Amino acid sequence: ISREEFRKIGKDTIEYIAEYHENIGKRRVVPAIEPGYLRDLMPHEAPKKPETFESVLEDFERLIMPGVTHWQHPRFHAYFPAGNSYPSLIANFLGDALGTVGFSWASCPAMTELELVVLHWYGKMIGLPPEFLPLTEGGRGGGVIQSCASECNFVSLLAARFEVMKELRKRFPFVEEGLLLSKLIAYCSKEAHSSVEKACMIGMVKLRILETDSRFRLRGETLRNAIQEDRNLGLIPFFVSTTLGTTSCCSFDVLSEIGPVATDNDIWLHVDAAYAGSGFICPENRHLLTGIEHAMSFNTNPNKWMLVNFDCSTMWVRDRFKLTQALVVDPLYLQHSWMEKSIDYRHWGIPLSRRFRALKLWFVIRMYGVEGLQKYIRNHIRLARKFETLLKADPIFEIVGDVQMGLGSEEANQQLLTRLNSSGRIHMVPASLNNRFVIRFCVCAEHATDRDITVAYDIISQTARVILHESVA
Ligand code: PLP
Repeated sequence: ISREEFRKIGKDTIEYIAEYHENIGKRRVVPAIEPGYLRDLMPHEAPKKPETFESVLEDFERLIMPGVTHWQHPRFHAYFPAGNSYPSLIANFLGDALGTVGFSWASCPAMTELELVVLHWYGKMIGLPPEFLPLTEGGRGGGVIQSCASECNFVSLLAARFEVMKELRKRFPFVEEGLLLSKLIAYCSKEAHSSVEKACMIGMVKLRILETDSRFRLRGETLRNAIQEDRNLGLIPFFVSTTLGTTSCCSFDVLSEIGPVATDNDIWLHVDAAYAGSGFICPENRHLLTGIEHAMSFNTNPNKWMLVNFDCSTMWVRDRFKLTQALVVDPLYLQHSWMEKSIDYRHWGIPLSRRFRALKLWFVIRMYGVEGLQKYIRNHIRLARKFETLLKADPIFEIVGDVQMGLGSEEANQQLLTRLNSSGRIHMVPASLNNRFVIRFCVCAEHATDRDITVAYDIISQTARVILHESVA
């Protein structure tokens, strides 16, 4: 299309988006379609001739929208928030317009430079120790944006594995590497995200999944005992992945206890705060971060709870050289004359090519300001507590776990959740806690209000009462 057409289409598209957001509440939250719905509505061959923007947009509304789950809907309470905001959308748009690819400093210097600055800002905003921050004078720490928390969990495991293997190779130069690898063992709690298990599976190391306490938290003593038992069996403990804000119920592993155990035993402590990490921009939540001074790596997703669109998963390491030593491969065609003085983010993760993701984090932080972001977080926490209060006052519900951030879990039966979701009026997802089926309720919409919470509560409690009534009848 011509530049002139782009000017017009661009404006029309912004108008379409604004209209969509304005009226999103009138739509069903989840679509009423079945797998394969699109196959029968679309041609099975790509068009040979160019089509107009109007015809594509018309089909977007007619064919795609009926299959969309509206994550920004005020009644969407499933999973975690999917970060979304106008500053972030605009930054994405600009980044895409530049069309740059930032695998090395030289491939687009501003991409690397801005990533360093925003990771320094954001790390400071959430209270990480200076050792982790990229611009700390003379420091070895560093920050990087990965595409997702699963990737952060995986690369931290790779770094830890490389580090322990390096030591083992020195200590046992004549023992076959495969044998050494077979002795390694990593730890996490049963509430850790499944990506930790996946990381160990791909990384070919054993994982021991530990029990939590009655508040779904991993405790230091549990880890200490497990390490001792495994050492007695001839295994080599090397990595523990802890979670601040677990997926099922937003519980917090007791980092203040686990940290010293990791340090005493010389194992790599990783902290996965994919959702809850953004909550630390409010100082009143930072007590949950105590013990972070023992961590080797930490991650949180601004694309979950800080209004930044997917993908933007931030990760910090205490020693960047321990991360990159596990990932450096350096062919001639990627080398450049600034390598001594600069950072090449291709050595910090799996992909080579990288989008300009720092831009959206920068736009969001600047256009909301730290205070605006704190206000947003505090509103969500306040509303989650309001929802908790409503349920506590209602004898047919039980709250499972503590409500500390924007998420709570209620025990309920499967029938209730199925009925709520199929009504199209509200969307939540379940979790299993100590083999109990619970429904998670997460405050997700950027501008969520008290009324949104009472409406959600009314829908849930009325539906639950109808089901109870039916079961008695
Ligand atoms: N870690 C935790 C604690 C999570 O809650 C999640 C997702 O909800 C993940 C990791 C995986 O996130 P991602 O989709 O960014 O890989």
